[in-house]
Amino acid sequence: MHDFSYRDGVLHCEGVALTELAARHGTPLYVYSARTIREHYRRLDAALAGLDHRVCYAMKANSNLAVIDLLAREGAGFDIVSGGELFRVLKAGGRADLCTFAGVGKTREEIEFALQEGVYSFNVESEPELAFINEVAGVMGRKAPVALRVNPDVDAQTHKYISTGKSHNKFGIGIDRILGVYEQAAALPNLELRGIQTHIGSQILETDPFVEALGKLAPIVAELKARHGIKFFSIGGGVGIIYHGTLASGSSDWWESGTDPKRIGFDDYAAAIRPLLEGLGLKILLEPGRSLVGNAGVLLTTVLYVKQTPAKSFIITDAGMNDLIRPALYEGHHEIVPLREPSPETPVRNVDVVGPVCESGDFFAQDRPVADLSPGDGVALLSAGAYGFVMASNYNSRRLPSEILVDGSRAEVVRERQTWDDLVAGEKIPGR
Ligand SMILES: *Cc1c(COP(=O)(O)O)cnc(C)c1O
Repeated sequence: MHDFSYRDGVLHCEGVALTELAARHGTPLYVYSARTIREHYRRLDAALAGLDHRVCYAMKANSNLAVIDLLAREGAGFDIVSGGELFRVLKAGGRADLCTFAGVGKTREEIEFALQEGVYSFNVESEPELAFINEVAGVMGRKAPVALRVNPDVDAQTHKYISTGKSHNKFGIGIDRILGVYEQAAALPNLELRGIQTHIGSQILETDPFVEALGKLAPIVAELKARHGIKFFSIGGGVGIIYHGTLASGSSDWWESGTDPKRIGFDDYAAAIRPLLEGLGLKILLEPGRSLVGNAGVLLTTVLYVKQTPAKSFIITDAGMNDLIRPALYEGHHEIVPLREPSPETPVRNVDVVGPVCESGDFFAQDRPVADLSPGDGVALLSAGAYGFVMASNYNSRRLPSEILVDGSRAEVVRERQTWDDLVAGEKIPGR
């Protein structure tokens, strides 16, 4: 699942020692493995061989220009959710005509930009949005390619904040109304009905919810092809990754690791969905985010203090919830491992690993057994490559961390750490 492992007692990313990166660039520091990202993309692509498909990386998971560039070179398209993400694709040299534009709240400015640049499809989430895109396209004298996002009303069996395919979620158009809304859309002169889209949630660790959703949708998709000549079916992303025991390998294949009892590989996923898609005669789009980049990144941090209270031991690190919010936001789990491999004799203690931010929610682990740590020790929070840096903020006036991309034995800074001047850039005091 990833290319992070101990070598000679030091945690490495591919051929690079993470202790050296932490010393040279400081912490908190995000480090990504290019080989891991490429390998994930290639394995997913290969698992779908023989099916007419395109992988549109959901770049909201990790939108660093270097990551976009890497996946664009592999032939990926992109699933974007804002004008800013389209701007990033273009900056990185990616192609707009391989982009699908998702999201429930597209603005006029964003729609104009996407039409101008020629995105492959707008994935539309409501009737008012359909009408608005039709209006904007009309003013520009264009036809907007659209797909409607259908909400299949299935339970993705994941955390409630990342479940999107139930009827009570804000996403998509209900499966019972979707054919009617396509009829309405067909009557709008400035739209081209190009496809249909669905996405049921994220961090899904079983094939059943995907199979259930696609099984419900397949007849409707076939009907839409017959009625409106749609060209593609985008089945969204959502394949989950392993967050537990990701370093407890025991296998010589760096790909095979993790102790999560529930797991889903690209091969399982492809085998489960292929029979439902093969007969449709449509291009199949996939929008994986987390599964391509999640296990490909770590957040390095340094222990500042070990605080002992009568009730607990706190390991206080120089990274906080502003750098990695997943634990605070959705009870996300990240393995926490020292950069220098602990010896078998190193005592393990139950600790809370917490950041410096002034919030009780600012923790990375609670009552977790962790090898004894001292101030100055470097540690890595694993599986931080997706929904990590992209959700970082300046809360508490903390600078955004730096990002590094490792490829073999090379390590490149792909984002500089912010300066204190960056923190106040654009601010003004009235009258001065
Ligand atoms: C977030 C999102 C994805 C990616 O989800 P992952 O769980 O990261 O694979 C794909 N499609 C849409 C519409 C999304 O909102």
